[in-house]
Amino acid sequence: MLILMESGATQDQVGEVLSLLEATGIRCQVNQTPEALSIVAPNASKALKPDRIEPMAGVRRVVPITSPYKLASADAAAGRTVVDVRGVGIGGPELAIVGGPCGVESREQLFAVARYIADAGGRLLRAGAYKPRTSPYAFQGLGLEGLSLLAAVRAEFDLGIVTEATEVETFDAVERCADMVQIGARNMQNFALLRRAGRCGKPVLLKRGPSATLEEWLYAAEYVLGEGNRNVVLCERGIRTWSDHARNTLDVSVVPAAKALTHLPVMVDPSHATGRRDLVIPCGLAGVAAGADGLLVETHCHPEKALSDGPQALLPSDYLRLVEQARALHRVIQAPTPAGLRL
Ligand code: PEP
Ligand code: MN
Repeated sequence: MLILMESGATQDQVGEVLSLLEATGIRCQVNQTPEALSIVAPNASKALKPDRIEPMAGVRRVVPITSPYKLASADAAAGRTVVDVRGVGIGGPELAIVGGPCGVESREQLFAVARYIADAGGRLLRAGAYKPRTSPYAFQGLGLEGLSLLAAVRAEFDLGIVTEATEVETFDAVERCADMVQIGARNMQNFALLRRAGRCGKPVLLKRGPSATLEEWLYAAEYVLGEGNRNVVLCERGIRTWSDHARNTLDVSVVPAAKALTHLPVMVDPSHATGRRDLVIPCGLAGVAAGADGLLVETHCHPEKALSDGPQALLPSDYLRLVEQARALHRVIQAPTPAGLRL
């Protein structure tokens, strides 16, 4: 259940509700946003009836959470979640754009990309130090050396760093370096990794598995949320279909479908969704048109020399064009519908 507190509820009144829940053995989380104070207690309705809580001082309303993913469900929050990554609000009024190379390859490569992203007003940089590759013979990332290059690039350009954790063993090092930890598509159902991400102090970018249904994806988010980390952003990155003109198929409709079911922000990664540079801009724009809260895009100064995912990396000028077009489109999407026009 979701317990919505009165805006003027006192600490003592919140404490009374929490004590009752805890005495009944119910785990819960308190959410304080500028608009509302609420308590989410998944599975509480079995042990405690809402009419036991509703009359308590400071309680405005008790809303049952009917969906099976209790914490990710739209019913579990008083509004949409905005995830703050080093001052950038993902899920807020601005479109969040995270650009960068697939992997950290060298200081020169990383700094060159960071420079044009920062010069264009970009605030967040992506690059993997640990790369989950289909082939064990492919470039696996620079590991710890990659993380220290990421720390150096952040210090130089004041960019927030989004980077992937691929295993529990190296999670601590990734967590220390990252401003947002990415869980990759292949690890979407690595439950030990999801739980570790749930105990981490940094926001989590959770990619959709290539064969995962929307429900499976939301259950994966539930693992992270269940450990107490409320800062989860979902990222659609293409699914496997029989279509063979592209690496994956961007599931555009999952963006509004996910946003209807969950309070979490939803981003789109048109790079892994297509695997083809020429499809990245149209598919990125399609994601924005479908209501995505942000884009995750691969870009490289010399894609022909990239150690991973070169064919999908946008050249700097194309990257900057996508940023401009995506922001313009997002403004159109956000604008109120003119009076008299029914869409
Ligand atoms: C990546 O972002 O570089 C990556 C490996 O993505 P995915 O997990 O979506 O394949
Ligand atoms: Mn990649």
